[in-house]
Amino acid sequence: MEKFRLLYELLLSDRIAIPEQFHTPELPDLEILELVHTPEYVQNYWQGTLDPKALRRIGLPWSAALAGRTRIAVGGTILTAKLALEHGIACNTAGGTHHAFPSYGSGFCIFNDLAIACRVLQKSNLVQKVLIVDLDVHQGDGTAVIFQNDPGVFTFSMHCDINFPGTKQTSDLDVSLPEGMEDDAYLQTLANYLSDLLSEFKPDLVLYDAGVDPHHSDKLGKLCLTDTGIYRREMQVLTTCIQGGYPVACVIGGGYADDFKALVYRHSLLHRAASNVLRQSNFS
Ligand SMILES: [Zn+2]
Repeated sequence: MEKFRLLYELLLSDRIAIPEQFHTPELPDLEILELVHTPEYVQNYWQGTLDPKALRRIGLPWSAALAGRTRIAVGGTILTAKLALEHGIACNTAGGTHHAFPSYGSGFCIFNDLAIACRVLQKSNLVQKVLIVDLDVHQGDGTAVIFQNDPGVFTFSMHCDINFPGTKQTSDLDVSLPEGMEDDAYLQTLANYLSDLLSEFKPDLVLYDAGVDPHHSDKLGKLCLTDTGIYRREMQVLTTCIQGGYPVACVIGGGYADDFKALVYRHSLLHRAASNVLRQSNFS
């Protein structure tokens, strides 16, 4: 939980964003979570009555604080998506819990913020079509299953082939990368897909999961991107979206390291890129 606060503080101290640029989400009603998740799962998790096996699959011990944090993070992604429609780009300082399925959590993910934000926007007619660009090193398996029969949401996941989850689901587009892939090959692969996807699907909004776990020093990664490579990736995604006129809402996704300072800096590359792109764009 610590890294989210540290990220916020780093963005302020490095003047990537001024206090007025931060927006505080509301705690979403449980019914909002139930746009994606089964009421039984939502109630059990919230009340701390989920069975031990289901908790083990999530991989995080239950606490009221964690339940509150994961719920407010969903509110953060909903708010981020709405702000992106208004300003062109918006970034959460959390989010990207893409391994959460309708009736269970998995891989440190409890509620699927990406999916819930999509449903909220669809329901209020703010968008018809959403493209989810999931560049976390792990496949967005929960998201893929949630939207497998929804033509309004296109799921694109680019991930390391041999990594978690062991059983991959079927996204609308899956790009499996070999272990050890480095900056240039990764960015070229991304370029092969992203602009074509945008011009073919023409989304009303892009939801971007900017997991930094493809980094070479990530504990759960298995790819070999550098800090520079991650920054180039964020610039590539954001400029491709903005130049095409597609608003983009970003969540930070996964990132795992003992060196918290380096990890938080790595997550902040997203906000640094967003700040640059926003300044150069005609949006806002
Ligand atoms: Zn991940």
